[in-house]
Amino acid sequence: MATDTILKAASIITMNDASPRAEAVGIDSGTGLITAVGTLADVQTAAPDVAVTDLGSDVLLPGFIDAHSHPALGGMVTQSPAYWISPYMGYPAYSDVQAFWKKLDTQMPAGQALLFNGLDRLLQGAPELTNTDLDAFFPSRPVVVIDNSGHEAYFNSATITLNGWADGKPPADPVGARYGRNDDGTSNGRAYETAAVLGAVAKVLAEAVPHPLQSLARFFALMSGNGITMTTEHTFENNLLQGYEACSSVPGTPVRVALYHMSIEADCGEKLAISAPADLLWKQGIKLWADGSPWVGTIASSFPYLDSPVVRNAEIPLGPGGEAMMNYTRAELDKVLTEYAPLGWQFAFHVNADVRLNIVLDAYEHALVTNGLMGTDHRWRVEHVGGCRGVQFDRAASLGVSISLLPAQFIYWGDLLVGQMFPTEIGSQWMRGGDAFRSGALVTFHNDGSVSPPIPLLNIQCMVTRRTPSGTLHGSEQQVSLDDAIRAHTINAARQLFRDKDLGSIEVGKRADLVQLSADPYTVDSDKLTEQVKVNGTWLNGAKTDPDAFLAHISSIDPTEHQGLATAAIAHKC
Ligand SMILES: [Zn+2]
Repeated sequence: MATDTILKAASIITMNDASPRAEAVGIDSGTGLITAVGTLADVQTAAPDVAVTDLGSDVLLPGFIDAHSHPALGGMVTQSPAYWISPYMGYPAYSDVQAFWKKLDTQMPAGQALLFNGLDRLLQGAPELTNTDLDAFFPSRPVVVIDNSGHEAYFNSATITLNGWADGKPPADPVGARYGRNDDGTSNGRAYETAAVLGAVAKVLAEAVPHPLQSLARFFALMSGNGITMTTEHTFENNLLQGYEACSSVPGTPVRVALYHMSIEADCGEKLAISAPADLLWKQGIKLWADGSPWVGTIASSFPYLDSPVVRNAEIPLGPGGEAMMNYTRAELDKVLTEYAPLGWQFAFHVNADVRLNIVLDAYEHALVTNGLMGTDHRWRVEHVGGCRGVQFDRAASLGVSISLLPAQFIYWGDLLVGQMFPTEIGSQWMRGGDAFRSGALVTFHNDGSVSPPIPLLNIQCMVTRRTPSGTLHGSEQQVSLDDAIRAHTINAARQLFRDKDLGSIEVGKRADLVQLSADPYTVDSDKLTEQVKVNGTWLNGAKTDPDAFLAHISSIDPTEHQGLATAAIAHKC
């Protein structure tokens, strides 16, 4: 390795326990590998003729890793030309959304189809819309609105016309999904669950998102702008591969992607032939679902919801959901694990509540024992786990199961969780970071694609302070240390994705994936982290990423080759 780049920073936070701080890092830009880490003098000794790039008062950290995402879906429904209208994207109340819609309809060319994502019945107090409601804002252009839970879509009368449904009546309900209907059988502008949502929105999607590859690329660029250098696609199926290959093959692609193949796909156990560099795009494992979403009442929990105005507005069944909310029976679970565990894939299990986590851990334990994997370095995962308990995390740790938390559930819904959705003893503890780290399990953080904007610094801030953006502290016993929170987005996440050998910390021989921050997170008040620490640059394989150049490259790719990407992305929600 030949050093041809030296970066000097105010401090380098290496996340390498043996040598936690440094001043300079040497890089071989040809291989993208780190050649030296230490004082400037140390690094220069090995490469005296190389010019030093001085980053001034900025600090360097290993690039952030978002351990569970859905960039394809996220790109289609949150990035331009789609509109992200969730409460945390500048539309705190339904009235804000209504004002935006009114304005937009007058500004956009006549007939231009529009796609919105993120209308929230809990946080914005939005109603369940009908086509008539939407016609008041959009009388003539086709418009689709995807609910923030992802389980429902609303559409206007122009969409019903565009769909060509005879007499305005939707087709027969697909398996596991349904269309909303008026008494006379005509569409009421609603579709529930993926298959029906897709049936209702596919034509609008094709018109509203004409260059789907660009939408995927924009999600890459968004992540890179927030310091993320590696993420995952947790709802992978083969129809997404071409799009990911295209993005990962473009020179200057800013983000590495690990693919988790959905267990409902017949070929999920097979290896993939991928025509992109293997260190940028690879298949990592298999994704399973245990239960649903806390925002629509489909979690398998032992505890009920409170009977409150917000819960009633969102029409959440009070529960407790219990085992009735499970997406697989234990026998079905065992069958999937038995079939694929011997192939060596890592499993990742979506599970939001406590009843389900017990059964997932039972199934994991059974599969680990029967496959002789107990005590091995399998790193099987559980995802989100918002309503799960500390004693369950202890058990996960004892099985070698790793935990990926979704801080957004606490950050954006935290003020509602406590006292409005659940009793304080449940709600204040939601997303138990403290318990997770105390269990000794490997713990990571994620943003889950279109569920929340991918901002690692905000996750770190709120999991350290346990304060929501309103400033309210909930469940101080679930606070985590700054060190643990940064680990959750760097070295721990690299380990969870089986990339800790070459990523996740700043060490000689590892790849130079870095994030350049405007201030040292350890020196600012954690409450002000996102205010005082900005991402000033992101480096992948030793090169500073240039999202604009990347997007320009993607724009030059013929969109007709990638028309299937939009429907493939939207066909599977987490
Ligand atoms: Zn997900």
